[in-house]
Amino acid sequence: MTATVHGFQTQVTKLLDLLANSLYSNKEVFLRELISNASDAIDKLHFMSLTNQDLIKDDPNFKIQIRPDKDAKTLTITDNGIGMTLDEANSHLGTIAESGTEAFMKNLTGDAKRDSQLIGQFGVGFYSSFIVAKKVTVITRSVNASEDEGVKWESEGNGTFTSENIKVPFRGTQIILSLKDDETEFTDTWKLRECITKYSDHISTPVELYEEKYEQPKEGEEKKEPEKKFEYTQINNAQALWTRTPKDVKDEEYIEFYKHLSHDYQDPLTWAHNKVEGDLEYTSLLYVPKMAPWDLYNRQNEHGLKLYVQRVFIMDKAEAFLPNYLRFVKGLVDTNALPLNVSRELLQETAVTRKLKKALTKRVLGMLEKLSKDASKYTEFYKQFGNVLKEGPVEDYDNRDAILKLLRFASTNNDSAECSVSFEDYISRMKEGQDKIYYITAESYEAAKNSPYLEQLKTKGIEVLLMWERVDEWLMGNISEFSGKEFVSANSQDLKLGNLADEEEKKKQETAATENKDLIERFKKALGDKVKDVVVSTRLIDSPSCVISDTNRMMTMQMRRLLEASGQ
Ligand code: ADP
Ligand code: MG
Repeated sequence: MTATVHGFQTQVTKLLDLLANSLYSNKEVFLRELISNASDAIDKLHFMSLTNQDLIKDDPNFKIQIRPDKDAKTLTITDNGIGMTLDEANSHLGTIAESGTEAFMKNLTGDAKRDSQLIGQFGVGFYSSFIVAKKVTVITRSVNASEDEGVKWESEGNGTFTSENIKVPFRGTQIILSLKDDETEFTDTWKLRECITKYSDHISTPVELYEEKYEQPKEGEEKKEPEKKFEYTQINNAQALWTRTPKDVKDEEYIEFYKHLSHDYQDPLTWAHNKVEGDLEYTSLLYVPKMAPWDLYNRQNEHGLKLYVQRVFIMDKAEAFLPNYLRFVKGLVDTNALPLNVSRELLQETAVTRKLKKALTKRVLGMLEKLSKDASKYTEFYKQFGNVLKEGPVEDYDNRDAILKLLRFASTNNDSAECSVSFEDYISRMKEGQDKIYYITAESYEAAKNSPYLEQLKTKGIEVLLMWERVDEWLMGNISEFSGKEFVSANSQDLKLGNLADEEEKKKQETAATENKDLIERFKKALGDKVKDVVVSTRLIDSPSCVISDTNRMMTMQMRRLLEASGQ
């Protein structure tokens, strides 16, 4: 059979140009991507072999091998994982998911280091081979295919690739990189050792490097030129990181593992590693990233933890273990309490999942509580994820108080748009006789801060929380109190000042109403159906008038605008 020439999907070609040209300064990431693909392929086969041992009986020891060849200027990465059929190779190594590429392109910053780290995040990892290779050859055989159904795929990264069926005597995938003339440092075992250690130390599959061994002359033997001998040596310790005792794991190891797990280029903001024994045995390793992913608010956002059962990888992005409002958390859970053949559907239904979800949610909330003690880190966290967290009190009734404690807002107490005031801070500063938490929602910080609705509260020296995020209005409409203190919107007709209202003012208001009866009538006539009522109020100090919403109708102005904007 002769090889068929295929054109890459247009986006792939664009991407390849980009990779080759702009992501030059951090080129070793290609190795991380290829090791990570090899490890994924092994995880997949390992999982299948649980129910069908025969699949791997010819070659039962999973491993990843890396072999440089200085003379040929090639670097070969081999795994004995699941492999690919011809169709699979054509589609997996010829296209990229539309949304992924688009997002990748949009997210490019021009900063080569940052951009190169985005590669993995957008699932375009394999193509990073072309950063260092002028030609990539893939020899692969699917676990389900016979020797004759092996595949050779090849490309020089310039718009086309070729592929054909060939005889392949082994299972798995071999990626042969023909290195560009100036990238031959990647045949240097010292350089490779350094990269492999960095990217694979926590991987549970052995990663071996083909390197030169010098035989020490035996005692008594005549000294002669040591013979050059090559063999594979294992580089990583191949013990899954989360199975180790937390106190023995170094911070750098947690950080590198996070990068492997999340494809993030930045360090995580914080993490929590717990091994729990007893009724429900599980290990969890949970991370909070520094930056929100591009699709945090996208309905199609895929998130969730990696699930392992007895250290065997079962699935990625298992959503069932954390509530939606914690969808920014990355990490894994490993448990003995679920069957190895658990499916996504089954996960949704089992009591074990529910118990784990409850426990893991508490872990995350605890981790955030701890993080909140570090003001600068927490500010950083809150800027990225605060608005997602605000979905929590409504979504997760059981943890409502714990989540409310984690929320922060700007306030009239300090002159800054920084959201740093918690409900607890607010309560600790409440005026004598005050038993309500006052807040205002507006379209922006400036609008909230300068709102005429605040005038009366300001003169009384009452602090008001300032809110302007879309989600705030919705959140406040759905919660009524914190720690026994009722929330009152400054936009509403009745400020419920209670003890804080003074009698004199009330009288003033009544007198003003009688005195200005005629004027009010004229206003009402002029405004007609546009308003429900016109009343005299003492709440304004500097402004002549303001529009307020009817407290009974539970809809404040901001909410109205939102609904109008969405066409309702
Ligand atoms: P991602 O790993 O995010 O899916 P990649 O570009 O790294 O994206 O890989 C694309 C796809 O190619 C993988 O999803 C997988 O199906 C296939 N693939 C890549 N490398 C291997 C491999 N070593 N063994 C089997 N399949 C592979
Ligand atoms: Mg990959």
